Formats: sequence, structure tokens, C-alpha cells
Amino acid sequence: MSFERSHEILSGARDEGPSETAIVTVDLDAVAANYRRLRDLAASAECAAVVKADAYGLGMIEVASALWNAGCKTFFVATLDEARGLRTLLPPATIYVLAGLMPGTAELYRADGLRPVLNSADEIREWASFCATSGERLSCAVHIDSGMNRLGLSAEEVDQVATAVDLWPALTLSLVMSHLACSDEPDHPKSDAQRKIFDRLRALLPAAPASLANSAGILLGPDFVYDLVRPGLALYGGHPRRHGENPFQPVVQLKGRILQVRNAAPGETVGYGATRTLREATRVAVVTVGYADGFFRALSVADGEEGFAGYLGPHAAPIVGRVSMDLITLDVSLVPESFARRGAWVELIGPNVPAHALAAHAGTIDYEVLTNLGRRAFRRYIGA
Ligand SMILES: *Cc1c(COP(=O)(O)O)cnc(C)c1O
Repeated sequence: MSFERSHEILSGARDEGPSETAIVTVDLDAVAANYRRLRDLAASAECAAVVKADAYGLGMIEVASALWNAGCKTFFVATLDEARGLRTLLPPATIYVLAGLMPGTAELYRADGLRPVLNSADEIREWASFCATSGERLSCAVHIDSGMNRLGLSAEEVDQVATAVDLWPALTLSLVMSHLACSDEPDHPKSDAQRKIFDRLRALLPAAPASLANSAGILLGPDFVYDLVRPGLALYGGHPRRHGENPFQPVVQLKGRILQVRNAAPGETVGYGATRTLREATRVAVVTVGYADGFFRALSVADGEEGFAGYLGPHAAPIVGRVSMDLITLDVSLVPESFARRGAWVELIGPNVPAHALAAHAGTIDYEVLTNLGRRAFRRYIGA
């Protein structure tokens, strides 16, 4: 076998065939529909898209192309390398890099027409002096910290740079932004407090379009929308508020395949650690997905616990025992044999099992589920 062919198979760039053990399906029409929904919710504001971490694990190339075709013109990524990749795909797009300006990287931004999100006074000074030297008023965003203590200028730093009159004429301030800490909790007082801090601090800077809302922030209403919104999760069918009805369409499905169905007797145990002892005669389906596919080991179900269930058609099949690297075991005692048979596909994320429900069982959030889906599964893109 040629190196190219091995590389193709190992990297997942292959045609779907009977050997597939796990399939991740990404519905690009649903991504586009979620984009339009967010754009409508944001009314007059521009709707950008956050496509960091390979579009939350779903595939930057396919997802960003679908968003571009749906009318999205502005993209946010986390790192400069992600931005450079996206630039080759979408030459005319506006691209912001959330991680901002690492020392000495300004020329890389200029060369590819990328915009740093400047997160400190030092970064603003470095960008301004680079612009002055290169004789171009290059675009950038400035990130104000309104209460997360993660990235962004503190109130003191805003005061400092606001009065440094030599900085601003050197550059083009195309966006002033901040980020909400608790937007997924609609009644949390922190969101309003952050909005007020953001308004007070941005008024000190030169006038520029403003941006505060991520996916959940958009759902907080018109006060949070400003001039540009920055959704990520909602585009990918995640549930910004985690509880109640999710207003966005599901995008991702994960399926694993039954390798074998075995009959186990009462008193026997299932899986590593023998953490699950069967009380009754049980039919156990062994399914080809494990923690190496992003199916978290925290989804393991020991004695006395209730956990996650996959679906075979309309029939629930609860996990029994530990999740291992490549396999899980499901109790299919109540599932008709026509569904629970060797070679059948099991829904692990999909219409019956939203990513946020799986996440809740694993003690995490759908963001982490999506970004961990891994490279081993076959990826199928539908729509667009
Ligand atoms: C990741 C990120 C977003 C997108 O957040 P979602 O909750 O996925 O919509 C927006 N803004 C910033 C600064 C981010 O880091």
C-alpha cells in the first residue's frame, strides 16, 4: 500500500464502506438554517460565526464554506494558525483571531489580512507601532474585560490606552468587544452588570462597532446584540441554555455499530473493573465506539447507577459497565432482535439523544462533546 493511501485511510479521508465502525454525520443545511435563525434574532446587527477548534470539531472547511454560502462574512477563530488555514479557504472573509497578538506575529497578520483581537495594552502598543512602521492603518479588535478575568483589558488598562493619543491614529479600530461569563443562565445578574461595565469602558475608547453576545448572549435580548454577534455553539446545534427547548436545529449525529450481541447470566459482570454485576439474564450489545472516539469514560455506568442510553430505532439501550477505549456495552434485553443485531447502527448522538443530554450524563457540556468527537469516525457531510 502506498504512503498516500495509508495516510488517506488513517486521516479519515476515505469513502464510506462496510468496514466503518463509527460515523459522524454533519448536516450543513442545519448549520445554515441555524445561522439564518441567529441572524434574524440579531435583527440589525451583523451575525459573525465562531469557527475555532475546527468549527467546534465538525470540520472547518465544510462548515465555514456552508456559512459563507449562507451569507456569513465575518469569522472568529482562536489561533493564528487556524486563521491562516481559513484564509486560504475564504480569501475575501473578515477573520478575527481571539488569542490576539503573540509577540512578533504582527507581520503574519498583515501578510494574510487577518485581524487580531488585542487583549491587553501591550498588544495594542505592539500593533500600533507595527502599523506605524509599516505605514498601514491595519484593522484590529480590542477586547475589554467586563468581569471574566480571562482575556481583555482591565478598567485601568482602558484608562491608560484611552489617553495615549498617539496609539489610535496609527491603527484602524474595527471592533470593540467583551465576553459574557454567565449568558447561559438567563436570570443571572452578572450579564447586566457586564453590559454596564462594557458600555462605560468602551465609551472611553475611539468610537467603533461593538460586540458582546455569544450564542446564549443573543437569546438575552436586544440589549445584548450591539453591532455584531459572535455565535458558535448554536450554529452547531448545541443548546445555549442547556435547559428547556433548544431553539436550534440538531447538526451532528454519532453512530456506532454492534459487533456482537451476547447473552450474560445473572451474577456475571460486564467490562473492565467488573463494576457492573448483572441482576438478571441480560443481552449485551458490544458497540464500536469508545473514549478514543470522544465518548467519555465518565459515561460508564456501575452498579446502582443510571446512565446514558443509546437508541436502536425507537428503542433505548442503556450503557452497562465501563466505557473502554474502543468499545461500549449496552443492555439490549428490551430491544427487539431485529434492531439489536450484529452490524446494526446505534444512535449515540442524534434526534433521540441531543449532544447536551449526553454531556449532562458525562458531567460536561455539549461544547466539550462536539470538540472531542475525534478523527477515527467516518465523517459524512450532508446538505449544502
Ligand atoms: C468561543 C467564543 C464565542 C462563541 O461562544 P458560543 O457560546 O459557542 O456561542 C464568542 N466569543 C468569544 C470571545 C469566544 O471565545
